[in-house]
Formats: sequence, structure tokens, C-alpha cells
Amino acid sequence: MDTRLIDTLPSLSYIDDKKCDDEYAFVKALRMSGGDGANSYSANSRLQRRVLSMAQPVLVKNTKEMMMNLDFPTYIKVAELGCSSGQNTFVAISEIINTINLLCQHVNKNPPEIDCCLNDLPENDFNTTFKFVPFFNKEMTNKAPCFIYGAPGSFYSRLFSRNSLHFVHSSYALHFLSKVPEKLENNEGNVYITNSSPKSVYKAYLNQFQNDFTLFLRLRSEEIVSNGHMVLTFIGRNTLNDPLYRDCCHFWTLLSKSLRDLVFEGLVSKSKLDTFNMPFYDPNVHELKEVIRNEGSFEINELEAHRFDLGHSNCDYYEEDGYEAGRNEANCIRVVTEPMLAAHFGEDIIDTLFDKYAHHVTQHANCRNKTSVSHVLSLIKK
Ligand code: SAH
Repeated sequence: MDTRLIDTLPSLSYIDDKKCDDEYAFVKALRMSGGDGANSYSANSRLQRRVLSMAQPVLVKNTKEMMMNLDFPTYIKVAELGCSSGQNTFVAISEIINTINLLCQHVNKNPPEIDCCLNDLPENDFNTTFKFVPFFNKEMTNKAPCFIYGAPGSFYSRLFSRNSLHFVHSSYALHFLSKVPEKLENNEGNVYITNSSPKSVYKAYLNQFQNDFTLFLRLRSEEIVSNGHMVLTFIGRNTLNDPLYRDCCHFWTLLSKSLRDLVFEGLVSKSKLDTFNMPFYDPNVHELKEVIRNEGSFEINELEAHRFDLGHSNCDYYEEDGYEAGRNEANCIRVVTEPMLAAHFGEDIIDTLFDKYAHHVTQHANCRNKTSVSHVLSLIKK
């Protein structure tokens, strides 16, 4: 049979995917702003550090349970998924290693040797992270020997060999989807689901989240040993009824508003804005549990929802210097989105865009009803 024709005929779904990938080429730029300058992730990730400290009790409890359930292995492999650039990742790793050490001391066992693999997308600025390794090593002397490795690649692909991981941790990364959902229609002027979006937009986002999170769980289930633990923290929402409802100062709503300001001022074309959508989803607990149950490889150990706070709720701080607080929040969102925004709209608009963003934040200083939460989820491999 002549297969040349078949080779040149892509499947229909391939055509759809390709169209989507081309249209949303900026997703390839997804990464946090590198380096350690004023507009870097490293210098603007206090929010994520607060999130790490809120999840600390779950992290400690699961590390101990993993050691006990696996009967104190002499070797442990840990993966930190979505480590980004900067020192935050070492906060989590230190916690895991300290917990293992203390537990081993307590039960009078030798601590295991630990391999710790730091994963992120290949475009991530790993160098800024690796520069902290000597400080980390110094802090860890007289503790369990720990070796740090880089593991570049998407966590929506296989990253580690079969049955090799004992513990997986990921903080504030899993709300990022592998791509922008297909078939987002009638959502012009918005970069994400908003109160005025049609229900089909919610369905498209939910569907993409279900596919991505199912794939994530399936891949990790191949890599994690039986009774291994996984602690995952990510942004979700606390609303159970109206799936479109987001509070008025939701970070993507404010980003949409700021971009519409630039369209109004003629700095960005309307069509450019209409083709920018965030590869992001904020599930509620029901949506999360359903994916975990349907995928079937993991048992839920804990699922907690914690307050999400970009700084807004500190009203004294606000009254003292509202502009400064607005600027801080704008920077927080800037370092997470700048590479994607610059790839789509160009570098030139970024400063003006985040001036607008800081202004919009100050207009919402008194909003208290937040729909966003941080889900802290721990899973055990069956
Ligand atoms: N865990 C860090 C970083 C959070 S920022 C902290 O707590 O501060 C989220 C990180 O997830 C980014 O560095 C981003 O590049 C990474 N990320 C997003 N999608 C990813 C994917 N599919 N695979 C691997 N990393 C991803």
C-alpha cells in the first residue's frame, strides 16, 4: 500500500490542535520572569512563599507518613514540580529533608540518602535557582545527604522512570493548563472566564482541566511507588453553584480590564486582545474530587482550602499607602504573565499595562469576598 497519501493527511483532531497551537503561540512562552532584578519572579514571589508556609503542616505530616508507610527506606527520590526560578523551591525541600531527619533521629534510624529533582518547563530560568544550591547545602550539613538535580520538561509528560519516586511536591503550578482550551467563543475582551462569559467558555476550560489533570495523575501514578505521597497546592475557587462567578477583583478580571484600557487608548488592537486567553483553571473541590476519583490511581489523604490573598485584605497597609500596595500586586501578576504577554502583545506595552493594573487594584481596596482559594491536596498512590 502506498502510505505517502496517509502520511500527508493529518487527522482532523491534529488540524484542530495545530490551529489552536498556532493561534495561541504565546503559551510556548509560559514561564516566570527570570533573573533576580526588580521585575523578576525571584524578587516578587512573597505570595507564593506565604502559600508554602500555609501548606507546611500538610507537607510535614505527609513526609512523615510516607517514611513510615514505606518502612524507612534507605534511599528516597523526591520531585519538586514547577520549581520556577529563585529560592522558594528550597523552602519546600528543606522542610521535607528536615522532617525526614527529625523523624529518623526520633526513632533512632540512619537517615536515607535523598535525590531531589527540580522540575520546570525547559525555558525556566534554572540558573537562578541553582545559584541557591550552595546556600542550601551549607544549611543542610550534618543532615541526610541530599543531591539536587534539574528535570526540565512539562509535568504533562513523563519525567521520571517507572516506580522511582517516593515523594512529589508541587506548589502553585498545577493551575496552569497545558494549552488554551479549544472553542472559546463569545468571550471577547476577557482573558479568562468572567461573570459575563457564556457557559460554553466554562465548559471548554473545565474540559481542558479534566484532560490535563487526569493525564498528570496517570503519568505520576506510573512514576510513584505504591504508598508514595504527593502534596499539591494550587489556586482554585470556593464557589459551588454559579461556575462563571468570579469576584470583581479577580486577578484575571483586572488584567482584562487593564488590557481593555490599552485597546481604548489605541495601544493594543481589539483583535489582539480577543486572541489572548490564559492557559489556567481554578477548580472547585467537586471538580477536583471527580477527576481524582475517575482516574483512580490515588487516594485522597487531605484536601484543604486556604485563604488566597495577593495583599488586598490587609486594609491597614492599604490605607497607609494604597498606591504602593497596588504596585506590589501588579508586580506579583506581572512576573507570572510577562513572558506570555510580551510574546503576544510585544514588550512595549508591559510597563503601561501594569500601571493600569496597579490603578485597578487600588479601586478594589475594600473588596473582601474572594472566590479564589488555595487548595492543598495530598494523595497516596494506591
Ligand atoms: N513552586 C514555585 C513556583 C510557582 S510558579 C513557588 O512556589 O514559588 C509556577 C511554575 O510552574 C512556573 O515556574 C511555571 O513555569 C511552572 N509550570 C507551569 N506549567 C508547567 C508544566 N506543564 N510543567 C512544568 N512546569 C510548569
